[in-house]
Amino acid sequence: GTQGVAHPQAWPTAKSQGLIDAATEAKITALMAKMTLEEKVGQMIQADIGAIKPEDLRQYPLGSILAGGSSPPLGKPDRSPGADWAATGRAFDAVAMEKRAGHTAIPLIFGVDAVHGNNNVVGATLFPHNIALGAAHDPDLIRRIGDATAKETAAAGITWAFGPTLAVPQDDRWGRTYEGYSEDPGIVRSYAAPMIEGLQGAPGRGRIQDGHVAASAKHFLGDGGTKDGIDQGNDEIDEKTLIGIHSAGYPPAIDAGTMTVMASYSSWQGRKMHGNKSLLTDVLKGRMGFDGFVVGDWNGHGQIPGCTKEDCAQTFNAGLDMAMAPDSWKGLFDNTVKQARSGVIPMARIDDAVRRILRVKFKLGLFDAARPYENRAGVIGSTAHRAIAREAVRKSLVLLKNDGVLPLKASARILVAGTHADDVGLQAGGWTLSWQGDGNKPADFPNAQSIYSGIAEAVRKGGGITELNVEGRFTTKPDVAVVVFGEMPYAEMRGDTRTLEFQAGDKQALATLKRLKAAGIKVVSVFLSGRPLWVNPELNQSDAFVAAWLPGSEGGGIADVLVGDAAGKPRTDFTGRLSYSWPKTAGQFTLNKGAPGYDPLFALGYGLSYAKPGRVPKLGEVAGIDASLANTSLFYTLGRTPAPFAWKLDGVTAEAVDSARTQEGASRLTFARGRQGTARIAGPQLDLTRETNADVLLQLQYKVEAAAAGPVRLSLGSGSVNAAALFAAGSGWKTARIPLK
Ligand code: BGC
Repeated sequence: GTQGVAHPQAWPTAKSQGLIDAATEAKITALMAKMTLEEKVGQMIQADIGAIKPEDLRQYPLGSILAGGSSPPLGKPDRSPGADWAATGRAFDAVAMEKRAGHTAIPLIFGVDAVHGNNNVVGATLFPHNIALGAAHDPDLIRRIGDATAKETAAAGITWAFGPTLAVPQDDRWGRTYEGYSEDPGIVRSYAAPMIEGLQGAPGRGRIQDGHVAASAKHFLGDGGTKDGIDQGNDEIDEKTLIGIHSAGYPPAIDAGTMTVMASYSSWQGRKMHGNKSLLTDVLKGRMGFDGFVVGDWNGHGQIPGCTKEDCAQTFNAGLDMAMAPDSWKGLFDNTVKQARSGVIPMARIDDAVRRILRVKFKLGLFDAARPYENRAGVIGSTAHRAIAREAVRKSLVLLKNDGVLPLKASARILVAGTHADDVGLQAGGWTLSWQGDGNKPADFPNAQSIYSGIAEAVRKGGGITELNVEGRFTTKPDVAVVVFGEMPYAEMRGDTRTLEFQAGDKQALATLKRLKAAGIKVVSVFLSGRPLWVNPELNQSDAFVAAWLPGSEGGGIADVLVGDAAGKPRTDFTGRLSYSWPKTAGQFTLNKGAPGYDPLFALGYGLSYAKPGRVPKLGEVAGIDASLANTSLFYTLGRTPAPFAWKLDGVTAEAVDSARTQEGASRLTFARGRQGTARIAGPQLDLTRETNADVLLQLQYKVEAAAAGPVRLSLGSGSVNAAALFAAGSGWKTARIPLK
């Protein structure tokens, strides 16, 4: 029930090599004896760099800063190659370390989302996202990626990476599916320790080596198990499933010495993880023996019933050690100090949290004056790191179909087409320079290689010719076309979908494939996505089909495998195998090996190679979901807008019947058939500090009832925001992007 775990003995124990050593504990004891209550509470709170000034630390002695914010008062951090990356951090640390009367100097710990390389810095190596790494089935590669990520993060002056994500996603509609290595707990289990050892450099009981950073295994627990794949939603699963599937990565992560664990936004059986003492304290710290610290997610504590983002004793009492309170740190600090003073939060709990945080700070060497890795030249985007990323790209490609067109002859005339063919931003996906991975320009990726450019290079060497045309037009008839297409970038709830149908509605990519086929040209599809999607029509039009996930900065790795030598002899074979099952219909939401009725198009572990070719019979082209359009739905994501605002739909026979998903930046309305009216919803309070680009863009996925005659007009309005768009009636989902002025 909602009281917590019922079977504590059923949970795995960790061998826990432990982070505790007597000498460090003695230092912590001595330090804590000098700390005031305010200084202790301050350690337990993390602010976002965009919402705090260095001088604030004199009154509010906070312990940590999230370095990923958008508009720091000191100016946007200079993220260009060769910049003094650590300058902003040093300005904060200088105040934290000031010698002031009655003040105990404790260095800050800076954390950042370095989740596929240090994806915050221009010119950094961008590794493929975790879904791709899962397909590579190579724990040693994961260790080397962790090591390279740590070095590029430490060189930017940051000592803590918010990763790895150890989610075991079970519903691919979840917008964070790509952040998980696999739907298979076995793969997640085998990757947890290598990634943490790569990041942290296997510190054991000693101090971490230079060029390494603290890891954060996240999100504890059950982030990948929410009903309907709704981000931050509820896990309606039993304890056995929570243990057997979702906890898989944690015991090895703890054994490997992960210094931090991040709590999940999600709930288990209706109860928010940020307030679940049974799991955070009894299971994680007790049974699993975790002795680092538990950090909260972005204002995650504020979602506990009875809490606000500025007031939440429950979370600390449940076992959270540091709250991520990006913009709410001031209120949370004041309230927490009061609650500690009045005993609402026991002093022993405060002391335990502070001890854990200081333990990590000592292990990281933050008290040592020298920071040898900061601004070290030649680390960020180094040739050696890019080579690892390119190897990861090669190993992550999964060949789903090959009628014999692959490998390509490097002496051939090759047309490269598709929206994603020559765009590193689209290769990199979400969590790339901005939260959503949107708004990136070619100049943001110096030295990176697009997929097109990799193919062109390989073909040039073999004496062939390449032509690039996004729409698939050509001047001279090509021998073969490579069409690169896929999802647009997204992160977190903005990537949640209702079905697994790819590009429902506009089917642009499909039209390109059909046009090329009609011209008698063989077609190789390279599909970039953060999850398996229903692509039967596209598969039918393709002579070969490669799942390339979100490969990151080294798109050339794709050419290493696709393009053979001049005679067409392969240079590298495909070795990637699916770490997620591929759906046969757009309605196979929870398609996981071992589940009853498992009937995928391509099973977990599937993957062809040149040594093992395979044809795919013609596939059914009915999406297999409710195609009768009984419901009309709108799903919007907003770049920035004042709130609240209202929807108004004219000319559609619909009425809002469900606005269940109002949350930061995302909401969903479902309209019942056959009702007349105007839909209204108070918009969510948007957190502007999360936005890293200034474009104000409304992205709408919509489906209009076939019954609605003529165009439908939607207007949005409130204060300065006014936008209107016309949507054509017709079957299937369509996407509209509307700039708001
Ligand atoms: C995400 C975390 C991330 C944090 C800090 C949250 O919204 O859920 O995965 O580490 O933001 O950016």
